[in-house]
Amino acid sequence: MSEHKLPIIQDPRPQAGRHTHDSDERLPFPEGVARALADERLQAALYKATSAKRAVRAEALSKLEHAAELRDLAATIKQHTLDHLDVYLERFVDRFEANGGHAHFARTAEEARQIICDIAAKHQSRLCVKAKSMATEEIEINGALQAAGVEVVETDLGEFIVQIDHDRPSHIVTPIIHKDRRTIAEAFTRELGTAYTEDPVELTQLARTHLRDIFRRCDLGITGVNFAVAETGTLCLCTNEGNGRLTVTRPRVHVALMGIEKVIPRLMDLSVFLKLLARSGTGQPMTCYTSMIHGPRQADDLDGPEEVHVVILDAGRSDILASEHRAGLRCIRCGACLNACPVFSKIGGHAYGSVYPGPIGKLITPLLAEVEAYDDLPQVSSLCGLCREVCPVGIDIPGLLVRLRRDQVSQRVVTRGHRLGFRVATFLLNGRLRYQAAQWFARLALRPPWRRARSANYVERVPGPLHTLTDRRDLRVPAKKSFRTIWEEGLEHE
Ligand code: SF4
Repeated sequence: MSEHKLPIIQDPRPQAGRHTHDSDERLPFPEGVARALADERLQAALYKATSAKRAVRAEALSKLEHAAELRDLAATIKQHTLDHLDVYLERFVDRFEANGGHAHFARTAEEARQIICDIAAKHQSRLCVKAKSMATEEIEINGALQAAGVEVVETDLGEFIVQIDHDRPSHIVTPIIHKDRRTIAEAFTRELGTAYTEDPVELTQLARTHLRDIFRRCDLGITGVNFAVAETGTLCLCTNEGNGRLTVTRPRVHVALMGIEKVIPRLMDLSVFLKLLARSGTGQPMTCYTSMIHGPRQADDLDGPEEVHVVILDAGRSDILASEHRAGLRCIRCGACLNACPVFSKIGGHAYGSVYPGPIGKLITPLLAEVEAYDDLPQVSSLCGLCREVCPVGIDIPGLLVRLRRDQVSQRVVTRGHRLGFRVATFLLNGRLRYQAAQWFARLALRPPWRRARSANYVERVPGPLHTLTDRRDLRVPAKKSFRTIWEEGLEHE
């Protein structure tokens, strides 16, 4: 045993039926939001982190030559690949297998879990190291492997902290964006038995020492995939801590899990995405480590796995591909839309109750699952368009959310009251006199002092058939004078 060896974490991540942390309770959306808004530490952490990330992104992209053209190109490449996905996936699998890798297709999360557990069983794996991967969160591989007797250790620092704190990631790039130093320091002391420190360098060193020992003993490595190059059968992995590289090279077996949408056609296309990915997410010119995995270790290689597997996950993606929401699959998981979103900046990731939070989460979560299973999410947007503005692959998230809302109406996911409310609103908004009468009535009904209001400017609940308009959000109190009245008065004075 290494002299630095720290206690191993026996039960590293919340599993089905095991609730150990506040964030592990997937609350109904309104309660999750209320809890997030009432949490002052969360509010401070989110404000600091998201404003910093917005600033570094803007600066990094301002220094990138032809940034707008690169974003257009990235969107075109991704859209083209999605439009011919069958061709590029087949090409990727052919090349990957020609390089000595093993490719598996998984139609569902359950199939993906089974494939990975079978690989672990075949190699009698007992200790698995994992690099950060949202797809593995999506299929909940940790619980499945643990049930099969394989210990799983997260090696990305943020994910490691999430794991020892029995928490869940709250951001697709920065999993501990919701935590402050004190929470992290407490988790280290409580779970690893180390001396209390809030110093980030010391905490990082403690994690490093712990993980080094795990890396020495592991026999299975699991990673996600940032890009899969069809032309060469290459997997590209972008990390900042070198843990991804160790996860790939140290164990005997490497399993990479990727959604079907991760394929890009050519190696030269990679340069476009690598220029945009880190700049958009963290403001770096590039991630610190960009690993290119061509296959298993060759005779003259000094290190590397004896076997490399790629599990290609569908789990609802081909349904999105076949729908008018296809562009949502362009996402390269940079996280920029989360940092830009005024809703995410206030409620953080856990309130969404889904693996993928923020603007892209609101879009793809109901599509990957069932629209009715996450009926709140498409509504949680002011459609301000900031997510579209920052997206490096030009996804029109607000436009797609509007279509999703339309689908909710046609599938009758929204309540009867909601539909009635919108019918009444449509009727009132479609005639000038009706609209003016409604304004007059709204001023009369919503401005008197006896109304219930969260503040002087908002109405919490509208009475009558329109009450559904305030079920999910407060309504702004009508101004004393409408814009039209002020405008007309201004014209009279000219
Ligand atoms: S939708 Fe766009 S901005 Fe958001 S994570 Fe995906 S690529 Fe990044």
